[in-house]
Amino acid sequence: MTAPLIDPFARAITYLRVSVTDRCDFRCVYCMSEHMQFLPKADLLTLEELDRLCSAFVEMGVEKLRITGGEPLVRRGIMTFFRAMSRHLASGALKELTLTTNGSQLAKHAAELADCGVRRVNVSLDTLDAAKFAEITRWGRLPQVLDGIAAARAAGLKVKINVVALKGVNEDELFSLTRWCADEGHDLTFIEVMPMGDLGEEDRLDQYWPLSDLRARLAERYTLTDLTDRTGGPARYVRLAETGQRIGFITPLTHNFCESCNRVRLTCTGELYMCLGQEDRADLRAPLRASPDDAPLRSAIRAAITRKPKGHDFDYSRQTVRGQMSRHMSHTGG
Ligand code: SAM
Ligand code: SF4
Repeated sequence: MTAPLIDPFARAITYLRVSVTDRCDFRCVYCMSEHMQFLPKADLLTLEELDRLCSAFVEMGVEKLRITGGEPLVRRGIMTFFRAMSRHLASGALKELTLTTNGSQLAKHAAELADCGVRRVNVSLDTLDAAKFAEITRWGRLPQVLDGIAAARAAGLKVKINVVALKGVNEDELFSLTRWCADEGHDLTFIEVMPMGDLGEEDRLDQYWPLSDLRARLAERYTLTDLTDRTGGPARYVRLAETGQRIGFITPLTHNFCESCNRVRLTCTGELYMCLGQEDRADLRAPLRASPDDAPLRSAIRAAITRKPKGHDFDYSRQTVRGQMSRHMSHTGG
């Protein structure tokens, strides 16, 4: 193994998120416009190239790999890629291989994912109301996702439900979603809506439900204890005494979590974003394709990490959106 990746703020980079496609079978209102333009397929890295890139990161100390998108499970042949990555689990170099999915294709792939060494899966699910689900995702259908979640559990995968907190949309489901996760044994994390992709400033402010408020409402019914648990991601956790469940909060807006950031994000075209909330990126496709030898690629990765910024600038205070990113979450990978 080569020297680990350390950024200018002494943060070790041990976590890589990889967006394997920008395409998706849903069109969630906070993530995509209804008529999204996707990248030409020819621009995408091949699965072999993604393997080479991810393997280089693993050699440089990345221990956690999260596959995301777009919807990762709609990429053709993606299970070949999971199978390939499982060799790094077997060697012990990689500690965790996981994915974030909308759940639509989980019923088909859960057993094979488990067989590839995936132990946990994050499923995005903002509501348990079928009509509301169809409105939020535009193209998604709730029963399909619930079947996917059931298949994941049956395959032995631990499920974490990611809920984007949406003002006036799922506020009324705070307790039913919490109860459902407790009953089903799923972990639960709430996420503040971030200004990714140009959906119009008004839309963002209309959608934004600060987790400080959500948390205060939870505390009206439950006894919350702050936990010091860190799972290598940006979430902060509380325990609910009454149900025993652990709940995560991802609060890029109300609490900036950048000081402990250990991750970078790779797009499906081989761009490396050193921060979700900044525009700077490094092209890894050129060094990857320039030589079958990984040396130029490793140098490019090291050079990129020296440019990792201190943090993002998202801010909705004073009723305007600051730190807005023109690119969509599906491009960088959520
Ligand atoms: N399609 C998969 C899914 O939905 O889980 C993976 C990709 S999706 C971009 C990853 C996560 O980003 C999802 O949990 C989604 O809810 C979240 N997300 C998308 N747009 C967001 C936004 N503007 N603010 C906050 N979270 C967002
Ligand atoms: Fe697709 Fe996930 Fe974005 Fe929804 S949040 S449109 S499921 S990529």
